[in-house]
Amino acid sequence: MSDCLIVGGGVIGLMNARVLALSGAKVTLFDQSECGKESSWAGGGIISPLYPWMYSDFLNEMSFKSQAIYQNLCAQLLESTGIDSEYLRSGLLMMDEYDSLAAVAWLKKNKISYKKHTQGALFTEVAQVRNPRLLKALKADIIALGVEIIEHSKVDNLIIDNEAVRGIVAKNKRYFADNTIICAGAWSSFLLGSEYNIFPIKGQMIVLKPRVNVIENIVLDKGRYLIPRKDGSILVGSTTEDVGFDKSTDEQTAIELLEFASSRFAILDGANIEHHWAGFRPASKADVVVSKHQSLQNLYINSGHFRNGLNTAPESANIILGLISNAN
Ligand SMILES: Cc1cc2nc3c(=O)[nH]c(=O)nc-3n(C[C@H](O)[C@H](O)[C@H](O)COP(=O)(O)OP(=O)(O)OC[C@H]3O[C@@H](n4cnc5c(N)ncnc54)[C@H](O)[C@@H]3O)c2cc1C
Repeated sequence: MSDCLIVGGGVIGLMNARVLALSGAKVTLFDQSECGKESSWAGGGIISPLYPWMYSDFLNEMSFKSQAIYQNLCAQLLESTGIDSEYLRSGLLMMDEYDSLAAVAWLKKNKISYKKHTQGALFTEVAQVRNPRLLKALKADIIALGVEIIEHSKVDNLIIDNEAVRGIVAKNKRYFADNTIICAGAWSSFLLGSEYNIFPIKGQMIVLKPRVNVIENIVLDKGRYLIPRKDGSILVGSTTEDVGFDKSTDEQTAIELLEFASSRFAILDGANIEHHWAGFRPASKADVVVSKHQSLQNLYINSGHFRNGLNTAPESANIILGLISNAN
């Protein structure tokens, strides 16, 4: 296997690094800040698209395959690093949309059933991970596998020669390798240009710490959701805001998210908001981009996962591995 440079250490870059290192590649990963502190940290960790029928077959296929990988992956990471990613098949209770025409056709086509529930449809197979822990585990694991991680090192340019990428420039230093993979999340277009229109969509989220365990399943309604963690805390999300790279949070949104939670579960009325944060989902004008670059050789892109990067990461990394292996 050849040498690889990875730009970006979110879940996508870390997962790519792991898969490539396991296949024998020499991997160097760059992050402009620290690995696992951006969207992948901010996300909810639901291992499924929220309303799968709203996404392409390509994305759903990646998600299905990733769902099949996750439980074993988390077990392997626990064994190799001692860090528990808290994989939990908590199920997802969908209160709306499941009986729309698009949903019924998609569920039938994909042979997916649900349990009828007084408040909607319960998809018992849907799982979650505690994404900040998953990221820590992935980072520790790839270091043990020999991946070199260079943090606080922004990749400013690609080294291009004869229609092929030979490496990257970070902090005025040139690094050369056989392959370069852009996993730079919402920042990907700074390196790829407007040919790939990947841009940030902010999502705000809060976490509540109720005194008693009130919900067992992930609950989804009108695009908003509650995610019960193993420790009893409940994540409530999220907004979709097209405001550029503005990561501020606002009081009004926190109140709205709390109102959403308490309108579904009265016991959450007035619950303490422990934390409130925002992250930049990497949105794409086209579909998610998991492919070779259109015109430059040796350059691969794994980006634009929007609301699904946690649930598509494992298989997206396998696809990139396949593309690189076939090219050599
Ligand atoms: C509120 C919220 C809730 C979400 N919930 C879910 C969910 O439940 N399930 C799900 O599947 N997905 C969810 N998502 C989406 C998911 O988090 C993203 O799709 C996923 O994290 C994208 O991963 P990434 O690695 O591409 O991006 P990121 O995690 O943002 O990582 C990109 C990395 O690249 C680095 N970088 C950028 N430019 C450069 C450069 N030039 N040089 C070096 N480093 C660079 C950044 O520092 C960063 O660390 C959610 C997102 C948000 C914001």
